[in-house]
Amino acid sequence: MITITLPDGSEKKYVAGISAMDIAKGISEGLARNVLAAKVNGNLQDALLPIMEDARVQLLTWNDQEGKATMWHSSAHLMAEAIELLYPGVKFGIGPDIENGFYYDIDFGDYSISDNEFPKIENKMLELARQKQVFTRREVSKQEALDYFTKKGDPYKIELINDLEDGRITFYESGNFTDLCRGPHLPDTGHIKAVKLLSIAGAYWRGDETRKQLTRIYGITFPKKQELTDYLALLEEAKKRDHRKLGKELELFAFSPRVGLGLPLWLPKGAELRGRLEDFLKLVQRKAGYEQVITPHIGNVNLYKTSGHFQKYGADSFRPISTPVEGEEYFLKPMNCPHHCEIYANKPHSYKDLPIRYAEFGTVYRYEQSGELHGLTRVRSFTQDDAHIFCTPDQVKDEFKSVMDIVMKIFNALDFKDFITQISLRDPLNPSKYIGSDENWEKAEQAIMEVAQERGLETVIAYGEAAFYGPKMDFMVRDALGRKWQLGTIQVDYNLPERFELEYTGSDNEKHRPVMIHRAPFGSMERFVAVLIEHCAGNFPIWLTPEQAIILPISEKYNDYAEKLLKLLKNSDIRAQIDWRSEKTGRKIRDAEMKKVPYMLIVGEKEEAEGLVSVRKHGDGDLGSMTTEAFIERISTEVREATSEL
Ligand SMILES: [Zn+2]
Ligand SMILES: [Zn+2]
Repeated sequence: MITITLPDGSEKKYVAGISAMDIAKGISEGLARNVLAAKVNGNLQDALLPIMEDARVQLLTWNDQEGKATMWHSSAHLMAEAIELLYPGVKFGIGPDIENGFYYDIDFGDYSISDNEFPKIENKMLELARQKQVFTRREVSKQEALDYFTKKGDPYKIELINDLEDGRITFYESGNFTDLCRGPHLPDTGHIKAVKLLSIAGAYWRGDETRKQLTRIYGITFPKKQELTDYLALLEEAKKRDHRKLGKELELFAFSPRVGLGLPLWLPKGAELRGRLEDFLKLVQRKAGYEQVITPHIGNVNLYKTSGHFQKYGADSFRPISTPVEGEEYFLKPMNCPHHCEIYANKPHSYKDLPIRYAEFGTVYRYEQSGELHGLTRVRSFTQDDAHIFCTPDQVKDEFKSVMDIVMKIFNALDFKDFITQISLRDPLNPSKYIGSDENWEKAEQAIMEVAQERGLETVIAYGEAAFYGPKMDFMVRDALGRKWQLGTIQVDYNLPERFELEYTGSDNEKHRPVMIHRAPFGSMERFVAVLIEHCAGNFPIWLTPEQAIILPISEKYNDYAEKLLKLLKNSDIRAQIDWRSEKTGRKIRDAEMKKVPYMLIVGEKEEAEGLVSVRKHGDGDLGSMTTEAFIERISTEVREATSEL
C-alpha cells in the first residue's frame, strides 16, 4: 500500500501501481474526464502512469498552465500524425508546446506547403482526435531508438537520439504515429475538440543558420469549440491594437531603412507622449530622493572591461569605434551602470551620504539580429528609465521596498492592475556562471525574497535566471487582452562596486563597499510605450495623450475663430490642433476618431456668433454645445482628477 497526499492535505491509501487517473475517478467521474496530466512529487507526468511509492499528487486540468501545455504538446504529436498521413515521407524535427499553442518543425523535402492546406490538416487532426487514440509510453534502449528511426529514415530524430543518454529514452505512440519524446501527454487525443493552425515560418534545424531550413507550423487547440472562437476573436483584437499599426496611424514613431534597422524615430506626437511619461517618472523619483545625471552615449573599452560587460557582451555588441589615436577604442554604451559607477567615484563618500540615487533616461545600444527586430519591443537603440542606488548593506531592503513603491505607483497610474513578479536566482548547479562571492549572492537573494513576501506579491521563483552580476526581480504585467509582457526590473548587485572599487567611510571610520541596486520600472521607454499602446488600444489617459483636442472648422470662413479658440486652449495648457484641411466635416470627424483624439471641437457660424464650441468625445459621440470656458473647465477638471494621485 502507498499513501497519496492531495494538494488540500488529505491523505488516502492505495495499492501501489495506481495512476493519477484512477485517483481522479475515485473522486468523481467529472473530474476524471478533465484530467490532462499529473504532478507527482513535483514531477510533471502522464496521468495514466502507475505510481509506485508514497507521493504528493496534483491532478492537472485545462485550468492549470501545465495542463494546457500538456494538451498543446500532445497536439503537436497529433498534427505530426495527420501530416504524416497526408504527406507520406516527411521528416520531423522537434514539436514543443509554446506560450500559446505549439509548433512542429518539419522537413517536407522538395514540397513547399502553404496555409491553404491548413483546413485539410485540421480536419484530419479532428478526425484522429475523435478516435480517442491513447498515448502509450514505452522505454526503449538507445539502439532500439536508433534502429526505429534509421528504418524510418529520419535523420533529425537520429541526431537527437545520439545526444541522449542510454536508459533514459522514451517513445510515445498514438494511433499510427511514434515519436521520440520525454512526455508527458494527454491520456488520449479525445480531449482535443477544436484545432486551428495559425502560421508557417522557416526555422533552421537546431537554430543553426548553416543547417537545413525546416518548415515550422504553428497551431493551437482547445477542449471546447467556444474557447477557440474566443481565442480567434482575441487574436483579431490584438491585430487591431498592434503597436506597429497604431504607431503609424497615430503618428507616434517610424523606422527608416536609411537611418538603420531597429533604430526608432520618435515623431512629434510620440516624443510628446514619451516626454510626458518621463516627466511623470522624474516627478515621482524626485519625491523619492533621486538625482538626475547625464552621461555620454559611448565609453572607452576599458570602462566595459572594468565592468565586465565587454567580456560578457563584447562578441554580441556593435563593433568598436576607433579614433585617430592608435589603440584608442570606444563602444556604444550597452549599459548605463559603468558610467554611474564613475559618477559615484567622482568624490569620497561617507555613510551619512548614503543612499545615493542617480537617475538617467539613458540611451543604450545593443546589436540584435535583423530577424529578431520587432516594432518598438525589439530594437537596437533604446532608452532605459534607469537609476542606480548606492547604499549600505543594511539599507538594501528599504531601498528595494521604496523602488517597489515607485513601480506600483506607475502601474496604478497607467491602469496595469494585473501583474506578477518573477524572482530570478542563481542556478545552483552552475555556480561558475556568475561573478561575485557566494556570501554576497546569498545576502542579495535573501533580501529580495523577504521584500516580496512582506508585500504579499504574487511571485514566481526562477532558478538559474539571474543575470551574471546579481539576482533580480522582474515585473510582468498582463494587458487588457490578458497577454503577459515583461517590463521593469530591480536588480541587486554586489559585484560592480567591487570591480570599480567603490567605497564609503563607515561610522567606524573604515572603508566599506557600497551595494548597488539597478532599477528600471518601465524597462525601456520604447518597450513601455509599445505595451501601453496595445494595452489601451491607443486611447491614452487624458493627462498623457499627445493631443487632447482638435478644432474642426466647418469651412474656411471660421478659421479665424478656430485660431482664437486654439490660443485660449493653449493658454489653459490644453494640447490642441486645428484641422485646416478643406475636407467635409464628416470626413474630419472620422479622421479625428481614427486618430483617437479625445475631444473634437466643431465650429461654424452659430459657435462663432455665440462664443461656443460644439463638442464630440471620442467613442462617446455628441456632447452638444457649450461655452468655450465651460469646455476648458471640463477638460481641466478631467486632467486634474486623473493626476491628483500621481
Ligand atoms: Zn511528446
Ligand atoms: Zn544598471
